[in-house]
Amino acid sequence: MSEQIERLKTLIIGSGPAGYTAAIYAARADLKPVMYTGMEPGGQLTTTTEVDNFPGYPEGIDGPTMMVQLQQQAERFGTEVRIGMVTEVDFSDEPGGIHRVTVDNSKVIEAETVIISTGASAKYLNLPSEQRLRGGGVSACAVCDGFFYKGQEVAIVGGGDTAAEEASYLANICKKVTMLVRKDHMRASKAMQHRVNSLENIEIRYNTEVDEVIGDQVVEGLRMVNNQTGEKEEISITGLFIAIGHKPNTDIFKGQLEMDDTGYVITQGKSTKTSKPGVFASGDVQDKEYRQAITAAGTGCMAALDAERYLALVDSKEAVAS
Ligand code: NDP
Repeated sequence: MSEQIERLKTLIIGSGPAGYTAAIYAARADLKPVMYTGMEPGGQLTTTTEVDNFPGYPEGIDGPTMMVQLQQQAERFGTEVRIGMVTEVDFSDEPGGIHRVTVDNSKVIEAETVIISTGASAKYLNLPSEQRLRGGGVSACAVCDGFFYKGQEVAIVGGGDTAAEEASYLANICKKVTMLVRKDHMRASKAMQHRVNSLENIEIRYNTEVDEVIGDQVVEGLRMVNNQTGEKEEISITGLFIAIGHKPNTDIFKGQLEMDDTGYVITQGKSTKTSKPGVFASGDVQDKEYRQAITAAGTGCMAALDAERYLALVDSKEAVAS
């Protein structure tokens, strides 16, 4: 006997601040949302220690606790949170059409609206010493963790806009910032390059890469290598920031949704509407610029409101037609 296909009003894919905020709003609007958490329930914040910049927590809160509390808040209004990975999607092109989503390669769900909040993952260098010291001084988010290195010497890897922006941010807090750029020039915009060049406590090392991060439990230093001469040099630092780009988690949506050339989902104007009616995107999966928990939460709220309005419009058209 074939299993009956479950039909939902709102399916939320991904469980970071965007997904949970969408869930809180959707549940309160009686959209009876079901959320699939993905492989990393709670998203990127579960890999952070202290979150000090989310309004409403004067003493700060640790990332995993915050995500548990967001889940509890979403569940309080009736969101059903399920552990599972969406492995395939087939989005309808028609307004009011039904979207088919496959979970864990087996269970098929039909949904009137889908909110995508699958986030993005920071890229790392993948050196063993870097991986070992993640959370012990190696970070991929200067805005999240820079404050812990106040008055200290740190280094940052990357030559794009993110690296330049984060280097300037760190320069305001830290004593010295060494910036490692692997080419003989930066990819960052001229304006951002000008900014880093104008800050006296940023030292830019071109043609330079990380050879090894030094330290047992915490970062104590960095061995750099000049990729032209092979010359190695050690510096003392307490924090290493990796800013070599993010990868949006959009592989399963390829061919289904419009994306930019780096794989971020394109949303329309100020809304969370994607190229498919009834499919909305919130959080880092559609934002390469701000990438903060609070901005992700804001767009999660927008996605739920967009979904609610879309369903109301579809219902009113069906009522007129019948
Ligand atoms: P980018 O892909 O633009 O830059 C990544 C940087 O990291 C490049 O300098 C790249 O070097 C370097 N890099 C990549 N891999 C390695 C590695 N293994 N070792 C050493 N260095 C490496 O990523 P960003 O996150 O900087 O920016 C992403 C997008 O977001 C861009 O379009 C950017 O313009 C935009 N953005 C805009 C902002 C703004 O307008 N305020 C702020 C932040 C981002 P190489 O050049 O040699 O490839």
